[in-house]
Amino acid sequence: MTLTVCTGGTVLVGIEPNGSPTLSTAIAFDGTVVAALGADAEALRDRADEVIDLGGGTIAPAPGDGHAHPVLGALEGIGPAVREAEDLAGILAAVAAWKAAHPDAEWIVGGSYDATFAPGGRFDARWLDQVTGDTPTVLRSWDYHTAWVNTAALRAAGITSSTPDPALGRILRREDGSPLGTLQEAAANDFLAHVAPAFTLAQRIDAVERATAEYAANGMTWVQDAWVEPADVEHYLAAASQGRLHARVNLALRADPASWPSQPAEFAGLRARVHELSQRLYGTARGGASRLSANTVKFFIDGVIENHTAALSSPYADRADDLGLPNWQTDELRDAVAAFEGRGFQLHLHAIGDAAVTAALDALEALRTSSPERSGRPIAHVIAHVAMLRPEDTRRFAELGVIANFEPYWAQCDAVMRDLTIPHIGHDREGWQYLIGSVHRSGATISFGSDWPVTTKDWRPALSTAITRHSHLEPQAEPWLPDERVTPATAYAAYTAGIARQAQVTDRGSLHVGMVADAVWLSANPLAVAPTEIPAIQVLGTWLAGARTH
Ligand SMILES: [Zn+2]
Repeated sequence: MTLTVCTGGTVLVGIEPNGSPTLSTAIAFDGTVVAALGADAEALRDRADEVIDLGGGTIAPAPGDGHAHPVLGALEGIGPAVREAEDLAGILAAVAAWKAAHPDAEWIVGGSYDATFAPGGRFDARWLDQVTGDTPTVLRSWDYHTAWVNTAALRAAGITSSTPDPALGRILRREDGSPLGTLQEAAANDFLAHVAPAFTLAQRIDAVERATAEYAANGMTWVQDAWVEPADVEHYLAAASQGRLHARVNLALRADPASWPSQPAEFAGLRARVHELSQRLYGTARGGASRLSANTVKFFIDGVIENHTAALSSPYADRADDLGLPNWQTDELRDAVAAFEGRGFQLHLHAIGDAAVTAALDALEALRTSSPERSGRPIAHVIAHVAMLRPEDTRRFAELGVIANFEPYWAQCDAVMRDLTIPHIGHDREGWQYLIGSVHRSGATISFGSDWPVTTKDWRPALSTAITRHSHLEPQAEPWLPDERVTPATAYAAYTAGIARQAQVTDRGSLHVGMVADAVWLSANPLAVAPTEIPAIQVLGTWLAGARTH
């Protein structure tokens, strides 16, 4: 067992349930766990294998990412660099440059582009044709619910004027009915799954390694992969077996509205395979060093506001009669949720529109009332995004013991909010968005995430935005919905204690004696600097169960 003593700085031991931080001056890790704090840790210096001088920096519980798509994020690096583009011309230039560098490529697959670069998010196949010629091309948009394809790709998919919209999807069209080149929801997913070429297993294993190494470099030790198909389990098992997993990942297998009745048994089998490998690789002892689990099932309750596919309780402001595109019938959702919970799965429900959040809460409430005899520790389920929330639903998270997972970087009035979101939902519902402060004050557990690659996986700018409700790049900006700001301690707790609750563990989320040593060494204490300075804090080291991952 390696004994490590860290001294010469601040130890942020944790955020207590009452919201106050506990601080110390030194910490000792013995093997996988925290062995001592303060003077007790200093006293171990002489027998330590390693003594680290923190240089005035801070050791804190390592943050986690409660909702992300790490493999999709890392795979973006293979295609054209459209994410860096600052306008439509920039996207086309990136695609042209990639094509010039890969003249033999049979397809161009890339992501992800900023959907605000074209009015209404309507991207035309002909714009891509100018730089791609006949090479079939598909680009994902930032929301990952939309794809922009060129004419050759439409041809490869057989999409014409007479192709109907798929169930739960939309093919945007020109006035003459011909396909425009923008595919939404199931139309985009079907295209990517069945028409575009799949990434190879080797590329996907590389992506797992690259993504988790980047998380470790950001000081993070746990990630919720929020959308896994059964075939994707293979790249995680392989990466773990090859020692290429640098952060803990919990997999959420996606429940399919069309085929869910056979999935609880299938997913339980996959979970068992993951569990077995994990025990073999990482052991079963307390102070768990396990890096892979598959404890969760993902439901897409609805889509996104930008596409008018988020489910609203009253119509979109710019489309009379349109309530969005809910993916589940009420009774099917209730039955499916019960079937997966019956197998011991945690539920992770994507809900953006206010009607989707209500539907998710209703389904979880029905679970409670239908099985009040459930014994043991009930599973804390998760509703992710909670982009819109009817004020009367706010208290239900605490009442039902449901975790609200927010992506705090979205809680600002940026271009997406101004140009795509508010025009769709209308100003009267602007104030229903990202009610992080209200949900926290109601007594619910909140956890934070990124939805990377939708937005940056770096927790630092997002932590800053949770505190200020504006971008750290504009320090003087007015806070957007200022009542929904949270304190630095509450925000950091959402990345640590809240994440531990979401991960269903009681021995992580703080650095008290006996807890697992998942820790980050920062150049400054994020609770003690100006919020807009948090993104400049450097990550100097990361430990996962006492093992250095960065
Ligand atoms: Zn997501």
